[in-house]
Formats: sequence, structure tokens, C-alpha cells
Amino acid sequence: MAGAAPIPEDRPLTAQESALVRWMLEQGTPASTRFIPQLEAAYVVARCPCGCASVDFSVGRVVPAPGPLSILADFEYRTAEGHLCGVFVFERDGLLAGLEVWSVDGLSTLSTLPATSQLQPLGSVQDAAPATSTADD
Ligand SMILES: [Zn+2]
Repeated sequence: MAGAAPIPEDRPLTAQESALVRWMLEQGTPASTRFIPQLEAAYVVARCPCGCASVDFSVGRVVPAPGPLSILADFEYRTAEGHLCGVFVFERDGLLAGLEVWSVDGLSTLSTLPATSQLQPLGSVQDAAPATSTADD
């Protein structure tokens, strides 16, 4: 969340985090699949202070340098309560840098990660106007 500093952590990815990131990278853009090998060396170095399940990674103990992030895979899903949420994997400085979950409607704190079976490509879970974007990347 804006303004709050990440809380330092130092642990391997959980099996769920690892499986989710791998699955997302496999379904993502052609460029995202080349980050899959980095997952073996990824480590959780911080978590989001808001209480959600978002985490930041290091790769081979190297923390990606601060700077612009680039989204590698972007999905959305509905929670069991029906809230529309998003999840994305991002890189920074050429390194796998984190996994982020966020609440599209702002009504949920996402303390758990979605199952891959819940995920839909961004823009396909709609209850408003249909998307007209044809952007590639
Ligand atoms: Zn958060």
C-alpha cells in the first residue's frame, strides 16, 4: 500500500507461492517464461505491510535494484466472497522481483493467495463494460 514500507522477511518461497509464480510465468508472455529458472534461486525478502499475501523476492541473494518494475504475468480472479481481485508477477532490473495480490474493488485484504484454477487472464472477469483493448505489449 502507498506510503508504507515493506516488512523484511528472510525465507524460501512456500510451495504455494512457488507453484503460483511458476504457473503464472508459464501462462504469461513469451518473455515471462525466461524468468522461470530464476524461481529456483528466489527467496522472499519482504512482505506487504497491509497484511495481504504480496511478497518481494531476491534471486540468488541479489535483491533487484530499485527502479521501474515490469509485469511478467497478470491475472484476475474472484474470491469466495465474490470480490474481484488481481495477482501479478513482476521483474525489476532483470530479476524476478515479486508477487503481488490486490483488490480491484478495494474491499478485501488478500491474506491468502488464489489457486491457479481461479485465475483468468486480465480483463476476462468482467461485470462492467467489456474491454476494448487490443494492446499486445
Ligand atoms: Zn498489501
